[in-house]
Amino acid sequence: MKRLEFLEQFRRDKRRPVLLIVDDQPINIRALNEIFKDEFDVVMATSGGQAIEQARAQQPDIILLDIVMPEMDGYEVCRLLNQDPLTLDIPIIFVTAETEDNVEAHGFEVGAVDFITKPFNPLIVRARVMTHLTLKLQMDIMRDMVLIDGLTGLANRRRFDQALKGDWNLCQREHKPLALLMVDVDYFKRYNDTYGHIAGDECLKLVGKALQSSVRRTSDICCRYGGEEFCCLLPFTDEEGATICANNILQAVRDLNIEHESSDAAKVVTVSIGQAFVVPSAAITAEQLLLYADQALYVSKQHGRNRTSIFCETETKDN
Ligand code: GH3
Ligand code: MG
Ligand code: MG
Repeated sequence: MKRLEFLEQFRRDKRRPVLLIVDDQPINIRALNEIFKDEFDVVMATSGGQAIEQARAQQPDIILLDIVMPEMDGYEVCRLLNQDPLTLDIPIIFVTAETEDNVEAHGFEVGAVDFITKPFNPLIVRARVMTHLTLKLQMDIMRDMVLIDGLTGLANRRRFDQALKGDWNLCQREHKPLALLMVDVDYFKRYNDTYGHIAGDECLKLVGKALQSSVRRTSDICCRYGGEEFCCLLPFTDEEGATICANNILQAVRDLNIEHESSDAAKVVTVSIGQAFVVPSAAITAEQLLLYADQALYVSKQHGRNRTSIFCETETKDN
């Protein structure tokens, strides 16, 4: 798709792109703002420190950065933004009155994607910004696609593995429990055999939605683990919280009321759940948490399905 067509569509589908303009001279900010204010949400900063704060908080899609500023210059701002996981994907274009080659070379060295020289031609500034904005937005879309399951729109296994690592470290630092629910659709092979694969796919989509609607906190993540298996990762959640969540999921899936005449568990589609939680420490690994949840899921399947079980060190109990 051509650059401008892509941007048109982005605007229709989503939101206005966000532009951060950084310059210690308000008059320069005003001039750039004039060019972009109709198409962008413009955020401004008049110092390096403020620029970093704004970039972290507002997550702009692109940054126009002055080089010569008191206290912290543009090079330093660029270097810091490129080191920070929260901001390293934001393209930075330097805006400078200096035209020497070494200024430009150093800018690219510290991570800028382009240069605009002052006094600037509005048409050229706009064209450069649009080019880098398009690349950035397309990259965002691709990055999302790599982490999302195509059928259900939930996080995929890759995203789950990332989240598990991150939440594991976070809960270990904070000495807080991390809970995991492993959710598996009951008699799903029979569902496919009875209603066909297309109906099976539709069923998985609905189960995915039911899962997503059953977890409340923004830090909770539901993913399609593979096939007809799903996982929910619940940081800062203990046995009680995980049990509430698991029961919500059981109910939400039953409430979908999807007929399943060949199931031995119920007349409708149901799931079985295995719950586990640990306070992460050096004595245990994240893989073990997965194994525990899997073991609890096995107990749910053994005890008749359409239920949740919780893993305990001594015995795994039907919940
Ligand atoms: P249980 O109650 O013990 O979990 O039995 P089950 O039949 O659900 O489990 P089993 O692992 O034997 O079969 C899982 C089935 O899920 C087999 C496979 O065809 C189906 N499946 C896996 N991924 C998909 C998918 O993306 N779409 C559809 N329609 N079916 C899928
Ligand atoms: Mg199954
Ligand atoms: Mg399975």
